[in-house]
Amino acid sequence: MQNSIQPELHAESSGLTFQNAFAALPPAFYTRLMPTPLPAPYLVAVSASAAALVGLSAEQVARPELLAILTGNQIAPGSQPLSAVYSGHQFGVWAGQLGDGRAILLGDVVSGNGTLEVQLKGAGKTPYSRMGDGRAVLRSSIREFLCSEAMAALGIPTTRALCITGSDQTVVRETAETAAVVTRLAPSFIRFGSFEHWYYGQRHDQLKLLADTVIAQSFPELAALEQPYAALLSEVTRRTAHMIAHWQAVGFMHGVMNTDNMSILGLTLDYGPFGFMEAFDAKHICNHTDQQGRYSYAMQPQIGEWNCYALGQALLPLIDDVETTKAALAVYQPAFAEHFQSLLRAKLGLQTEQADDTTLSDALFAILQASHVDFTLFFRSLGNFTVEPSTDAHSPAAEAEHTLRDLFIDRDAFDAWAVQYRARLRQENSQDQPRKLAMDQINPKYVLRNYLAQQAIEKAEQKDFSEVATLLQILQHPFDEQPEYERYAELPPDWAQHLEVSCSS
Ligand code: AMP
Ligand code: MG
Repeated sequence: MQNSIQPELHAESSGLTFQNAFAALPPAFYTRLMPTPLPAPYLVAVSASAAALVGLSAEQVARPELLAILTGNQIAPGSQPLSAVYSGHQFGVWAGQLGDGRAILLGDVVSGNGTLEVQLKGAGKTPYSRMGDGRAVLRSSIREFLCSEAMAALGIPTTRALCITGSDQTVVRETAETAAVVTRLAPSFIRFGSFEHWYYGQRHDQLKLLADTVIAQSFPELAALEQPYAALLSEVTRRTAHMIAHWQAVGFMHGVMNTDNMSILGLTLDYGPFGFMEAFDAKHICNHTDQQGRYSYAMQPQIGEWNCYALGQALLPLIDDVETTKAALAVYQPAFAEHFQSLLRAKLGLQTEQADDTTLSDALFAILQASHVDFTLFFRSLGNFTVEPSTDAHSPAAEAEHTLRDLFIDRDAFDAWAVQYRARLRQENSQDQPRKLAMDQINPKYVLRNYLAQQAIEKAEQKDFSEVATLLQILQHPFDEQPEYERYAELPPDWAQHLEVSCSS
């Protein structure tokens, strides 16, 4: 019908068909409520790869009808919005009831790989908002959006971020800022604190219901086991250990590892203050509010284990045996060590496992610490190291080693380590080219440095969202050279040293 003047009809109302699995739990688990509309919303950024997970294109997300749904300004037919209740330990102290203070679940949608929940962060007050205003600011929304997508591209388990919607509505933090909503995706947003809520509330019936639901939805293979709850604890413990090993291997730090921010699926969850290690310091604290350094880089593995113990405590009534619970938790340390060591070997380009590999990596961390070497630059540059030292001072190999050496204040220390490293590479007959190719697939060239996020935020606050889009594009391919974006891989500028990230978001 070439000459038809009929407008095209859109069969689908939104492109999203919601189910409400979480809402099938008893009402004590949540409050049904409507998001507070975001005044005059505009699209700030969309992740095409996250959108694709729920069968949408970036263009579809940008359409006003769909964006209204992804912002909470309109409710899709079939969606039953709710906020979940949970509790948690904050900075090691029992905090009692918390809950989704500004997050609203729209429901779950069928994706290519199971179902994904669609959750709005910053969609207005809920019964769990306590003193908060239920909003998120543009600044922290951009940070969460970019980091979720960067982590996914790094291969680290994480919740995803589909889009950010902004508004001129004022939100007051330390200063006046503007509001935004991040639309997040995850198979489940259930937290360790969701279990603690029923344990400390002495509602073991609800605790069992929650555990059975999580097993049925996310760990069906555990249901038939003799000890399904111990198996659940052991699996969550293993996943948590793996996630944190991966964080450590890329230098990622989560600034608020409270039990209410720990995902029952072992996903990186709730990006508030976070950071990627730049000048290496094991004691680095990425959250300005964390004055004691509970969540410093070096502490994160132990804190992950502490949090698993908090989950184990909460599951004790179901497992019904202290020794079985402890045995499930005992998975943590070996799982962490094994995964971290294997990631480190890969980062060093080692193909075999040798008894003294930890000596080599411990020595490396000691010199990185002493010279405060940029973590990402070092590992990326190490890929250019050659087994045979070059005799020609102007050869690419010699220059590459120079670049690496120049990252250290204490160059003799680097030289001494390089002797050990060379010997280790020779021992396994390592070949420069294939080793570099493999190393470049594990040592990212691009990570979300604080100053890069800050630059994108400052432009976005002036309504120029181009830098958010550029960063997203770069960070979705962190292992690629992307020569046109070389400057995004460089050392942070001096002004970046004074950037502080706090809990305020
Ligand atoms: P966080 O440690 O940032 O994940 O947040 C801890 C608790 O505070 C959670 O229950 C959040 O939902 C809640 N919260 C944080 N910011 C706000 C806000 N602006 N309004 C309402 N609740 C908030
Ligand atoms: Mg949280």
